[in-house]
Order: sequence, then structure tokens, then C-alpha cells
Amino acid sequence: MQTGTISVTSENIFPIIKKFLYSEQEIFLRELISNAIDASTKLKTLASKGDFKGELGDLTINIDIDADAKTITIRDRGIGMTEAEVHKYLNEMAFSSAEDFLKKYKDEASIIGHFGLGFYSAFMVSDKVEVITKSYKKTPKAVHWSCLGDPKFTLENHARKDRGTDIILHLSEDSLEYLQNDRIEEMLHKYCQFLPVPIQFGTKTETSYEGEGDDRKEIKTEVANIINNTEPAWNKKPTKLKDEDYKAFYNELYPMSTPPLFWIHLNIDFPFHLTGILYFPKIGNNFELQKNKIQLYSNQVYVTDDVKEIVPEFLTLLHGVIDSPDIPLNVSRSYLQSDTNVRKITSYISKKVADKLKDLYKKKEDEYVSKWNDIGVFVKYGMLSDEKFHDRGMKFALLKNVHDVHMTIDAYKEKVKENQTDKHDRIVMLYTGNAQEHTTYIKDAEAKGYDVLLFDHVIDNHFIQHLEQKLGDVTFVRVDSDIPENLVQKDEEAESVLSEKEQDKVKLLFEEALGEENKSKIQLKALSPTAHPVVITKPEFMRRMMEMQAMQGMENSGMPEMYNVVVNSNHPLVAEKLVNMRSAEKKEKFATYLYNLARLNQHMLKGEELSEFIEESIEFLK
Ligand code: ADP
Repeated sequence: MQTGTISVTSENIFPIIKKFLYSEQEIFLRELISNAIDASTKLKTLASKGDFKGELGDLTINIDIDADAKTITIRDRGIGMTEAEVHKYLNEMAFSSAEDFLKKYKDEASIIGHFGLGFYSAFMVSDKVEVITKSYKKTPKAVHWSCLGDPKFTLENHARKDRGTDIILHLSEDSLEYLQNDRIEEMLHKYCQFLPVPIQFGTKTETSYEGEGDDRKEIKTEVANIINNTEPAWNKKPTKLKDEDYKAFYNELYPMSTPPLFWIHLNIDFPFHLTGILYFPKIGNNFELQKNKIQLYSNQVYVTDDVKEIVPEFLTLLHGVIDSPDIPLNVSRSYLQSDTNVRKITSYISKKVADKLKDLYKKKEDEYVSKWNDIGVFVKYGMLSDEKFHDRGMKFALLKNVHDVHMTIDAYKEKVKENQTDKHDRIVMLYTGNAQEHTTYIKDAEAKGYDVLLFDHVIDNHFIQHLEQKLGDVTFVRVDSDIPENLVQKDEEAESVLSEKEQDKVKLLFEEALGEENKSKIQLKALSPTAHPVVITKPEFMRRMMEMQAMQGMENSGMPEMYNVVVNSNHPLVAEKLVNMRSAEKKEKFATYLYNLARLNQHMLKGEELSEFIEESIEFLK
């Protein structure tokens, strides 16, 4: 037996490793399994090159828990190590890289959790680690290395006959949670789901049936519990995959979730390597919940599901997998953001996504339109946050009107240009956030030949503003606002049926009926006799300002709600009925009633006022 001291300068590096990695302690399993995978794939490569002529056999990696001995064993049938290699890799190299790492990042607070401390991460959870290994080379002996978590190790020969490596972890008292099957199973699922070599964790019972009817027998068989899919869909050729395969893979990633709308299969070799599948999920209104579900892999090894630095913010709404060995993993976040490869990856993904959307819209317009409600949030978010995506998005971002007709922004501008251009030569786009609430306003606008858009997602307020700024030649006006003067058509601003004197009287009457605080809001207009007798409109600008304030959580700054009361002096109820009433009291009551009808239409009558109004209506009907 040999004993020795691992070449390390600081005597007690183990406690530092333990402390340092405490929060990500469970990665020890990923690190050790990754080594086992490396050892197995290296052997496969050697075999394929003819450098290894023996039997490859079953390369399945085994994870075993021995609760009595308090050990976990990771067993592979890979290349193994000779005695010289154990010296080189475990006593010198592995440890010096661990030390380098600690030196480098001692003062760096923001380290990402997924650096590879490799083999020595075993000491985060173990008091003692044993390695029993035999190289694939024709060496006479297997070796047994053992270390108690200080820099001293022992090395002796071992009777092991077969090729491969066993790593035996003797768990420390505070790590006994890892003896629980469920805990290990959960970790295996998280880190190893798509590793390229089968990983077995215990056995499971499979039930099959033999015979018919009364003779039918239930047969239970114990089979290996393989926890990973060694050939995940993203590594396959897109031409080999059907829609069902993509959907099945989505389900594998996110069990029991709503199927995705569509997907993009990424595959690039230059100037970096990247594969993956990104899915468009069905996005509801609570899209925060859907964010940050993309998983990052490096050669099928799970790295993280925190991809904020690698994927542009708006794309974090997508789901799926990105696999790239070229994304540096052992670095701090600030470094990652400035890494040129990462930046290239970001813009590549963004472009791919835009291309896919453009393509879908061009080739499968019906399908695209039917999914617009979900895609739209994403596209708008992208256009708002990414200059280039805005430009690309102009080709496939759609506007939807209240009759569910969808058009690109340019096509829509063309459509409404003639009828809806204001005196500043801007195209006026009328919209509503709630078609139900604005029914009468919409009917009114449509009667005048205008089109009304529907914007009913929280993101739309921002999107509207974004388009106004970006395009310069459009302005959005909510359908219950004052429609710009020059859009009011000739026949609408009809000849007044009342004389000027009579008009003044009507105005005065309303002013008195509605009280001092409403006086300035009243306007008399000779609208069409079929329009409403009194209409309440809200100035677009003021309303938007108040919405913004509300959105930013600001208290209503004491400003009263701004609106105009437009009295239609051509409506028979005004021009005939009201004017001809005898008693002043009746006139006032009637004017107030018409005003309240308009308020009802704007959902401004609430509580006490609403019930009074209903009582009054019942009285009227009597
Ligand atoms: P890394 O894997 O990043 O090189 P590690 O500290 O994890 O660093 O491992 C150091 C070296 O030890 C590996 O490069 C490999 O040569 C050797 N090694 C570790 N585990 C195994 C194993 N299961 N089979 C064969 N060699 C191994």
C-alpha cells in the first residue's frame, strides 16, 4: 500500500470546498455521473477508431444506495484508470484545478452555481471517498484509492477483474438525506434526464398479462430502472421527427402541460455549436408564470434553467432546450454577458425565431391567425424590447379588429387611410380594450365607416405607445374618446334644426341641470338625429396618463376624471321633447335623465347613483 499527500498548497481546502459549494451541494451527483459518461463515451470513441478491440458490452452506469453502509456508489464500465492515471488525474490535476478555481473566485461574490469542481465535489457530501478502477488498457492491476477528506490518500492494488470505475461515497452525517431513494431520483431526473449513456437506478416492477379471460395471468417482472432518455429529440435530424415526436418531447420536458403551439428546431455548427428545440407555449395573461423555463445543456448534461444571460429577455417566454458546448459555464455572470459567443448566440436565436414566425405567417396564414392571441403577446413583447425584432416583426405582427379580422400593420394602414386620416396627416386607429363595454361607441364609429381595433391584453397599452413612437404617422384613439375634429364627417355635423337662440337655451338648461362642476364639460353639437341624445367622451391623452399612473401603482393624484358631455341638439328628445316641456322642474329632470343614460353607457353610474337611476326609470315607465 502506498500513502501520499495530494499536491496541494493549502492544507485544508476541503472545508473551503464544502462551504463554498454549500448552496449547490447536490451537483456532486451530476459531476460524478458526468465523469462516468465521459469515461464511457471515450471508450466508445476508441472502439469506433479501432483503438479498443475488446467487447464494449453494456455501458449502463449504475447508481446504488446502501443505506446500512451509508454509501452511494457510482459505477461505470468506461475507460477506467491505471495507477499512473490515478496519480495524475486524482492526486495532481483534479485537485489543482479545484485549487485554481478557489483562488480565482475567492472574492467574487456572484459565481454561478454550475462550475465544474469535478471529482472533488464528492467531498461536499462525503467523509471518505474510495475509487476502485481498472483501465481498459492491458494493465495487470486494478487500483483502490481512498481519501478521508484531507490531502492524505492511500493507494493499493485491488482484485477487481472488469474494466471501469466505482466511486464510493461514504456520506457525512449532515448529508444522509442522499440515502433516500426519492431524493436521488429527483436529482437524477433534474441533472441526468438526457445524458447519452443509460443510467440505472435500482429496478422497477413491470406488469404484463398472459392468457385470456379467466386464465388471464398477471406477470410481474423486475426490470432495470433506466432514468434517462439517451437520444433526446433535439439531437435528432428535424427530417426524422414528426409533429407527434415534438409534442411528446415537450411532454417529457414539462409533464401534464398544455401542448405547445409550434416549435423551432435549432441546429448550427458555425461560428459556434448549438442545437435545441424552442417551443411556443400557449401564453395566458399571467405570462410571468411562463417565463424562464428554457433548460440549458452542454452535450446533454443539464447546466441550468436560468438562461437570462443567454437568451434575450423576451425569448424567455419560450420553452424548451438549448444545448451548446460553446457556452462557457465556469464563469461569472458579468463575464457571460460580455462574452462574444453568448452575444452571437443571442442574436442568432432571435433571428431564427423571427424567421420562423415570418415563415409560418406566409405559409400557414390560417393557422398563424388562429393562434395569434398567444403568439401576439410574444411578438409584441419582442418588438417592444428588441430593435431588430421590431423591424422583422413588422412583417408578421398583426392587428385584430372587433370582428376578428387580422391584418399586418402596413396592410391595416392602407385599409383605413382614406377614411381615417387626421389634419396632421396621421392615420387615426380607433380601438377598444373591451368591445362589450364600448358596444354603442363601436356601432357609432362603424356607422360612420370607421374600423375599430381590439386591444385586450395588458401588453397592449405599451404596444400602442410603441407603435405611435416608432411609426410616427399613426395615432391611436380609443373609441369612446373625442374623435379628431376633421374626421367628423360632413353629414354628421348636420345642419342644426334649432335656431341659435334655442341652442343657447338648451345649453344653459343642461348647465343648470348638471351643476357647476360639469359646466365646462358641456358641448352642444348638431349630430345625426339617430346618434345618442347625450354622449360622454374621454380625452385620449388624459385617459392614457391616468392609466399609466394606475399601472405604476400611483394613487390617483387627486385629479378628477376628465370627460366631455356632448349634447346632440338634433336628437328629437332634445330638439322637440325637451325644448317643448312646460315646467322648468320637468326640463331639469329630463336633461339629468339623458345625461345619466350617457353615463350608464360609460359605466360611470355606480352604487347609490345607479339604484336611484333605476328607481327613477321605473317611475317614468309608470
Ligand atoms: P474533469 O472531469 O473536469 O477533467 P474531474 O476532477 O472531474 O475533472 O476529473 C479529473 C480526471 O479524472 C478526469 O479528467 C478523468 O481523466 C479522471 N476521471 C474521473 N472520473 C473518472 C471515471 N469515472 N473514469 C475514468 N476516469 C475518470
